[in-house]
Amino acid sequence: MIEENFSCPKCGSQTEKINEGRTVGTRCPQCGWSVVTTYTQPIDQDVELYEVGIKKIDHPDKNQIKVISNLSGINFLQARKKIKEGGSVLFNMNARQTSSIKAMLIEAGLSPAINPDFKW
Ligand SMILES: [Zn+2]
Repeated sequence: MIEENFSCPKCGSQTEKINEGRTVGTRCPQCGWSVVTTYTQPIDQDVELYEVGIKKIDHPDKNQIKVISNLSGINFLQARKKIKEGGSVLFNMNARQTSSIKAMLIEAGLSPAINPDFKW
């Protein structure tokens, strides 16, 4: 972890935090010294596990049923029932998995219901 108030090891000035997309770290505005971690996206640092569900739809189409069937490994009829009732589909998903599932659901025209609040 990089501390909030960190002095530059080169010149002793107060460093500032870097948080630019894929780059996180700290740098010294005086002499340019910096420590950065790249390619670590904040979503990968999210250790929360999510429960992904869907809001109910009265008349799901074939594609929507298929998506839910594939995602949760249930058959067509069970998937249709699941969509009509709404509710949880997958459990213990990490942020990265949750993010791609969310995208799949939205693409299929389903409304994801994610617990706890999903910020990504
Ligand atoms: Zn410095």
